[in-house]
Amino acid sequence: MSETLFERIISRQIPADIVFENEELLAFRDINPQAPVHVLVIPKRVVARIGEAQSGDQELLGSLLLAAAQIARQLGLAESGYRLVINNGPDGGETVPHLHCHILGGRSLGWPPG
Ligand code: AMP
Repeated sequence: MSETLFERIISRQIPADIVFENEELLAFRDINPQAPVHVLVIPKRVVARIGEAQSGDQELLGSLLLAAAQIARQLGLAESGYRLVINNGPDGGETVPHLHCHILGGRSLGWPPG
C-alpha cells in the first residue's frame, strides 16, 4: 500500500510544525487550522482509522489520548478547555487514512458540529 501523507510527515519527507514526539506518537499543527490551536496527534504505527483498531492497539490508543491531554495542557488549553475529535469514514469527515486525534482549542467551540 502507498504511504499516507502522515507517514511522509513521520519520516520527515514533508515538513510539519511538530509540537510533540515520542517513540510511538507524533503531534503537529494542522495545516488548515479550524481554531487558534489545532494540533493532530498520530500514532507512528499505521492504524487506518479508529474503526479498524484492534484489541492489540489498546495500549497505543490509551497513549494517544493521554498524550493529547498532555499536549493540550502544554499548549495552555487546560483552563479554557478544548475538544478532541477523531473523524472516521466519509460521514465522519475523515480525509487522511491514518488515525489522528484533533486537538481544537483557543476559542469557544459550537455544539453540535455542523
Ligand atoms: P481529517 O479530515 O479528520 O482526516 O483530518 C485531516 C487533517 O489533516 C485536516 O484537518 C487537514 O487540514 C490536515 N492536513 C492535511 N495535510 C496536512 C499537512 N501537510 N500538515 C498538517 N496537517 C495537514
